[in-house]
Amino acid sequence: MAPSSITPALPTTTDVLIVGAGPAGLALAASLRQLGVDHVLIDRYDEVQPGSKAAAIQPRALEYLDRIGVADRLIQAGDRGRGFRLHDRTQTLLSASYDNLDTPYPFVLLISQQTTETHLLAHLEELGGMAHRGHKFLGYTPDFPGVAATIAGPDGVLRSISARYLVGCDGVHSAVRTATGIGFPGNAPEQLFAIADIRVNSASGAVPKEDTTFFLSAAGMLLVSPLAGGLHRIVGPAQSPAAPTAAEVGRLLTERGPRSDDIEVTEVVSASNYRIQERVAERFSEGPVFLAGDAAHTHSPAGGQGMNTGIQDAGNLAWKLHAVLTGLAPVALLDTYHDERHPIAAGLVAFTSQFAKLANLRDPAEGELRNRVFAAAATAPGVTEWITTKLAQLDLGYTSEPDRGLPRVGARVSPNAVPATGLHWTLALDQPDHTGEHGVLAVRHVPGLESPLLVRPDGYLAAYGVASEPEKVLDQLSSHLPMNPTR
Ligand SMILES: Cc1cc2nc3c(=O)[nH]c(=O)nc-3n(C[C@H](O)[C@H](O)[C@H](O)COP(=O)(O)OP(=O)(O)OC[C@H]3O[C@@H](n4cnc5c(N)ncnc54)[C@H](O)[C@@H]3O)c2cc1C
Repeated sequence: MAPSSITPALPTTTDVLIVGAGPAGLALAASLRQLGVDHVLIDRYDEVQPGSKAAAIQPRALEYLDRIGVADRLIQAGDRGRGFRLHDRTQTLLSASYDNLDTPYPFVLLISQQTTETHLLAHLEELGGMAHRGHKFLGYTPDFPGVAATIAGPDGVLRSISARYLVGCDGVHSAVRTATGIGFPGNAPEQLFAIADIRVNSASGAVPKEDTTFFLSAAGMLLVSPLAGGLHRIVGPAQSPAAPTAAEVGRLLTERGPRSDDIEVTEVVSASNYRIQERVAERFSEGPVFLAGDAAHTHSPAGGQGMNTGIQDAGNLAWKLHAVLTGLAPVALLDTYHDERHPIAAGLVAFTSQFAKLANLRDPAEGELRNRVFAAAATAPGVTEWITTKLAQLDLGYTSEPDRGLPRVGARVSPNAVPATGLHWTLALDQPDHTGEHGVLAVRHVPGLESPLLVRPDGYLAAYGVASEPEKVLDQLSSHLPMNPTR
């Protein structure tokens, strides 16, 4: 997107400096703008970068994107996928359809990362915000209680900006993370992967149109996923250091994919090779500095989770920054960003790494055993639902309490049960009294509730059995913050 002809100068002070206008930085900026938090968003590049990156938005991320008012336009711009499948050639081992998930969005939204970023930016601009493009973060020095960051502008001139908080949403090679000295331990497995976004014809309809499908056969693994706009994405172990050609993609499909002789790759729209890294930052914050998105965690793209996790990092951090900056919560609330998000990232890296290892088994006997285990698991009660909920990220929450059907503080609250109210706290009541907005609190009538529920701005349960008068709940809000050990 071309920068506008009159670009406002970079401010010299701000409450929150966000480095990186990828999905995490844009989601954070749009959230802060909606909450009225003063911030500055910068990105080193002049425009949204091309390339094969995220191709899908999961239901949980859509639930958050709805809170910031951008889900509908993304849904309009994308296509709906049904879910995931595991296949051995034509044999279905496991089918994980999203159809019955308890969410307003029971589908995988197929949409390119570039389209997602373009819509997030457009939304941010409609709210009156902007991205300062062509501005590269170089480093920072402490400037109590915040930081003084050095930014190289498009004209090459160095500028300083004082920020109370600095958030590194600057991707896997994060300069913010490097500047804080936070370690990024993990692995970089040897295996090189080929990725190609293609147009493919198959009169027999052998190429999956609705489900992201992992083909796991004696010949090896191949991912085939429908993309927005009638394209398909193919991912498999690279056959050479060069990006795959149409012939190589066709061969991978014939040898590993659906057993069919009518598959024709008509166009390779983009192709490249990539190496997976599996890393989680040691800490997600250091004093006034925070890390979100790929700056904090990176892993195998299998399962389409990375960008989605970054958007939810943003959702977790945004309301906490707002609460602290407006005096609603003590500064210690910000420590819960690491406490809540680090375990989620560590669990995700472990899960995707385990799946990638299973998918890439080279010994045919082990591969056959794996496939038999997947097929048996698919028939066991609850297993497919468990996998579907996990991939859709609807199982994620901030509680270790097992689900016994009772309210659990820290668990996700489905918007089907308690409607989302933007970035307000939500008080759900059985009676229709007080319905409406009361400062940061929105009251909603939810018939049949056993006791009043208080839901955080990012959609997790803060408390149950609270008072039913909004003024009392507002007075007691600080006792329902996640840092409060008595909750
Ligand atoms: C092949 C592939 C397929 C993928 N598929 C999926 C998928 O299906 N689903 C999914 O959820 N995820 C997927 N991912 C992962 C997803 O692309 C990333 O998780 C996502 O891009 C992370 O977003 P981010 O905002 O954290 O960082 P990024 O998208 O990396 O954005 C970082 C931004 O920071 C800017 N920046 C960097 N350094 C500086 C600096 N010094 N100063 C200023 N600006 C700076 C960059 O220009 C960039 O705009 C895939 C990734 C790959 C490689």
